[in-house]
Amino acid sequence: MPDKYDIIVIGAGHNALISGARLSKTGLKVLVLEKAGMLGGCSRTDWNIVPGGYGVSTGALVIQQPVLRMASKLGLEEYGFEPILIPEDGIILRYQVGENYEISIPIYRDVEMTCAAIAKYSTTVAEEYRRMVQEWSPFTRMVGEVFKWKEPRHSMLFSMLESLGPKAMWLFLGRCSDIMRYYFSEDWIGGMSRIPRISGFTPQFPGSGYGTQNIPRVHFSVPFRAKGGMSGLIESLAKLIEANGGKVRKNAGVEKIILEDDKVKGVLLESGEEVQSNVVISGTNAKITYRHLVGDENLDEDFVGYLKRTRESMRMACVFVSMDQPFLPELECTEFQFAKGLRHTEINALDELEHRLPKDPSIYIDNPCMNDPTLAPEGKCWIGLYDSASYELEGTTWAAERERHADNMIRQVEKVYPDFRRHVIDMAIMDPTDYEREFNLWKGSIMGPALSIDQMFSMRLSYGTDFEGLYLTGMSTHPAGGMIGIPGWNSAAVVLEDLENGEIKV
Ligand SMILES: Cc1cc2nc3c(=O)[nH]c(=O)nc-3n(C[C@H](O)[C@H](O)[C@H](O)COP(=O)(O)OP(=O)(O)OC[C@H]3O[C@@H](n4cnc5c(N)ncnc54)[C@H](O)[C@@H]3O)c2cc1C
Repeated sequence: MPDKYDIIVIGAGHNALISGARLSKTGLKVLVLEKAGMLGGCSRTDWNIVPGGYGVSTGALVIQQPVLRMASKLGLEEYGFEPILIPEDGIILRYQVGENYEISIPIYRDVEMTCAAIAKYSTTVAEEYRRMVQEWSPFTRMVGEVFKWKEPRHSMLFSMLESLGPKAMWLFLGRCSDIMRYYFSEDWIGGMSRIPRISGFTPQFPGSGYGTQNIPRVHFSVPFRAKGGMSGLIESLAKLIEANGGKVRKNAGVEKIILEDDKVKGVLLESGEEVQSNVVISGTNAKITYRHLVGDENLDEDFVGYLKRTRESMRMACVFVSMDQPFLPELECTEFQFAKGLRHTEINALDELEHRLPKDPSIYIDNPCMNDPTLAPEGKCWIGLYDSASYELEGTTWAAERERHADNMIRQVEKVYPDFRRHVIDMAIMDPTDYEREFNLWKGSIMGPALSIDQMFSMRLSYGTDFEGLYLTGMSTHPAGGMIGIPGWNSAAVVLEDLENGEIKV
């Protein structure tokens, strides 16, 4: 093992590994240092969390389209990566909406097939959905384009917004609730406003309108999975780095980034070991990188202020259950969203933001063994139940509430599948404090800074920093959190532009 690497990458989340893999392919020697005992960060498959041989993806369930293109450019299939794609006519996601979840809407890749499914309940709402998708798709495509930019500027963004007309400003500055009520005459279809919640706001929050561009997205940017769960992707990236002379280490938490005269010299590990390199790419939340690893004392006061006031988005409370069936027969697709309607979503989201547990949580169900039986023993499966939840709870703690909340989540599923609990063998709960501790997430945030215009595009952190040789990647950088891989891909490109014969150009 060489004692001096060309590049040190902090963290083995998918972004950091994509960055490291892209750089490795050019012949650079990359060392990845991961604090946890497992690779992948939020994209991992844990074979021990539920006893009996279940490969549970305790973080992300699906991977977004851009990663498929990156995997192909990197040649990841050679290292064992096998994507599982949703067939052309397959169901991407099913909404269980209505007061008693009595309305079941499958979302297909094809808009017309989706409208036909909605029309079984209301031809008016089907027509409204078609119109919304038509009118909103240009914004979804615009966001997709801007996501690819390496260095978005205010001016580039504003000229694009201008070309899209006044509704573009409504999207970025308006409220999700208003947009949903403008397009839809029935409250139940507003259960779809759970998807916009990914941006990290209540639907009533000014700026939450942005999330509505995610509604048409499923029709032209279909997410996919990896065989073997999230580790199928992560292990292939790690193998690529090691096949190119690099090294990926677990249980190797970084304590400090070593700086001399604002230049990077290497890192100090929690174990006391020092590793030298003139280039460090950090894939942790930027608040961890700057406030812990660089230290406030080395930062400009204004910049510390920027970090302090950045609003983080999305925390999760999850229940993973093993079941005595190959998959629940009723669950004929892999993803389900339970959300009664817009008003219910508004109330729940407000609870989450105000540090309370919703009485009637809107949950998401994942049923991954249906298209990957390798994740469970023969004839069995595991199911994930997901709820977005506050990090802090008013007047109580997660330790006191977790079991009760998990039970409440299961009770929601029983409203549609009364037999559910009878098939449960075992279960594991993860609350936001578990995610903070075990996934090393800043206050449990799984998406990094929330997506409102004041924290997006040119307002998000760049890959390059004010310290020579220090780069950022991951959820805090442009464009966003999620399994999109773009921060990883772009950060590698920025490093390559700055390098000359393996050294930073000065
Ligand atoms: C339950 C759950 C469900 C989700 N579902 C989806 C989904 O279906 N689709 C989707 O697109 N997104 C989903 N997400 C979000 C998505 O997984 C994350 O936004 C994304 O994976 C973040 O990737 P990253 O590489 O930026 O960071 P991370 O995956 O967080 O990786 C950062 C890594 O840095 C390591 N680290 C931190 N500090 C140090 C240190 N000091 N030294 C060394 N290493 C350190 C961490 O241990 C971690 O491995 C989900 C997340 C969760 C938790």
